[in-house]
Amino acid sequence: RAKGAGRKRYHVYEDSSTYEHVEKFVHEIALSNAIANGELELQYQLIYSPLLQKVTAAEALLRWNRPQLGVVAPNEFIPVAEETGLIIPIGYWVIRKACQDWHRLKTMYGPHFKISVNISRVQLCEDGFVDQIIRILESEQLSPHAMELEITESTAIQNVVMVQYTLNRLREVGFSIALDDFGTGYSSLSMLSVLPIDKLKIDRSFIQDMNASLVQAMLDMARALHLQVIAEGVEEVHQFQLLKELGCWGVQGYYISRPTEFSKLPLEMVVE
Ligand code: C2E
Ligand code: MG
Ligand code: MG
Ligand code: MG
Repeated sequence: RAKGAGRKRYHVYEDSSTYEHVEKFVHEIALSNAIANGELELQYQLIYSPLLQKVTAAEALLRWNRPQLGVVAPNEFIPVAEETGLIIPIGYWVIRKACQDWHRLKTMYGPHFKISVNISRVQLCEDGFVDQIIRILESEQLSPHAMELEITESTAIQNVVMVQYTLNRLREVGFSIALDDFGTGYSSLSMLSVLPIDKLKIDRSFIQDMNASLVQAMLDMARALHLQVIAEGVEEVHQFQLLKELGCWGVQGYYISRPTEFSKLPLEMVVE
């Protein structure tokens, strides 16, 4: 664009927004090759139920190992993947890999163990998403009953009609649905009661500055709506004990387990 613009326009190239643009473009190219180059990895964070006293599930968390640069966290590259549409193939890669890993994890944690996968707004809105995810599970010989799909609260309330339709179809074939980062997306009670979901995952901000009466109120509300609850971001023993006393169905956080590479997951676990 600056071609032939003359010397006076030279500053354009030093403009920070142009620089960011170039950097982002480089990031995009690298990301578009990440699957083929085997740079993506899933780590698993175990979810523990104080009521059942066992590991009930694991959440798959995506990592991008960039040669020379190290591990990139999802908050840095998922937005780029969403903007460029790369989240579609990456998301299918995640689902397929989670299916394959489940077959080995069930020998450690039992046949009722669930694998939980994060689904972005862009994936949920993609034509053919439901058919494609069903096909992947079929080809990997995994029942949808073994998989939970996590949708953030803000995704769910942005496109209620479409989300309701898609989630209903997914639940009909056996997937369970969890509302992720609950409490940060301002959904109303009436909206919560019509969303086809099975679980609420209380955002870690509520657990970190633990307000017992607020958490109790969330648990009461969930019970009234027949939803199970998982508390995210449980880091300390007092948080765990209080949640256990309040009857919270599941807990997740560094106190229980860090996101861990597949081969390093513990065989069994007792949490006190
Ligand atoms: P999320 O689904 O809410 O996942 C929980 C995040 O909290 C993870 O960050 C996890 O490492 C972190 N976490 C877990 N326990 C604790 C704790 O006790 N304390 C603190 N401070 N943090 C804790 P992570 O792995 O960086 O992922 C960030 C977000 O990226 C996820 O939030 C999820 O929304 C998204 N994400 C991760 N993997 C995928 C994926 O495969 N697809 C899509 N679309 N999004 C993904
Ligand atoms: Mg999640
Ligand atoms: Mg969350
Ligand atoms: Mg989150």
